[in-house]
Amino acid sequence: MPHSVTLIPGDGIGPEVAEATVRVLEATGVPIVWERAELNQELILQSGGAIPEPVLESLSRTMVGLKGPVTTPVASGFQSLNVALRKRFDLYANVRPVKTFRGLKTRYEDTPIDLIIFRENTEDLYSGLEHEVVPGVVTSLKVITRKASVRIAEYAFHFARRVGRKKVTAIHKANIMKLGDGLFLRCCREVAAKFPEIEYNELIVDNASMQLVMRPEEFDILLMPNLYGDIISDLAAGLVVGLGLVPGANMGDEHAVFEAVHGSAPDIAGKGVANPTALMQSAALMLLHLGEEAAARRLQRAIEDVYAEGKHLTRDVGGQASTREFTDAVIDRLA
Ligand code: ATP
Repeated sequence: MPHSVTLIPGDGIGPEVAEATVRVLEATGVPIVWERAELNQELILQSGGAIPEPVLESLSRTMVGLKGPVTTPVASGFQSLNVALRKRFDLYANVRPVKTFRGLKTRYEDTPIDLIIFRENTEDLYSGLEHEVVPGVVTSLKVITRKASVRIAEYAFHFARRVGRKKVTAIHKANIMKLGDGLFLRCCREVAAKFPEIEYNELIVDNASMQLVMRPEEFDILLMPNLYGDIISDLAAGLVVGLGLVPGANMGDEHAVFEAVHGSAPDIAGKGVANPTALMQSAALMLLHLGEEAAARRLQRAIEDVYAEGKHLTRDVGGQASTREFTDAVIDRLA
């Protein structure tokens, strides 16, 4: 039986990296029927900020999406569509593996990085609850609930147990936000107590940022509320050379949407130079989710081999290759 997957190319560099990713998926031989659904800045402006019905309808049916970046119109008053999608399908766990590629020159060459970020995906300052009290005074509500905190912690610990990871670090600012981040931490501690074989520790987000830059190899699984997860993900991407590399999975109990950490990169859109690695690695995570483990491993290895060889890399990671040339190299490796 072929898998049905909703393909949302997005905008900016989205359609370029999506096309490249569909090509490598085809080369794995895994049968996938694509349902293409458009989601972009123009449609959002036209719809008054709502997610277009065909996207919702398709994802409700297929339950699996592969998604390129979508530009959020800045200061338009609209909620981010990415945030809206995560809420609509209750994709509460955002999982982002950050790993160094062999052969790629980084500042951390001697200390390979292999960490996974688990970011709560539905609340915190992304609840979209902002209010102008009087002209010149705005409040933005940070919402932390027990339910969401426990389930992201459980997701991270269960994952750690399943794949044999050794340590979970919860990241917070409970010294300042004693109630909100305090609740998040209490939930993490409760869950940690049920997993005695996994080491558990906590770091304040500012200290965690410094430790990540100084000793990234010491981190294993990082567990955090939404906003810190957003910021730390980009920081971690910087450790392994850039946003073009880091994949992501938005997981719910029923639905899953796989997308790169990077945005729509309007500065390089349409030039054929975008790095499709992040979406390709997201696609490898999607294959795992679909139960296609062998194909997932082959795709991941093909990408890693192209990096190890170092001849067909895109500009963002110090090479000269176009999106197409890099993609062809991955397909050659798959063959
Ligand atoms: P958003 O707010 O939507 O997350 P952003 O403003 O953080 O987006 P990005 O669009 O992710 O920013 O781009 C940040 C920088 O990284 C840009 O200079 C962009 O060109 C570069 N970049 C991001 N993704 C890629 C990629 N896949 N290939 C090459 N360069 C990229």
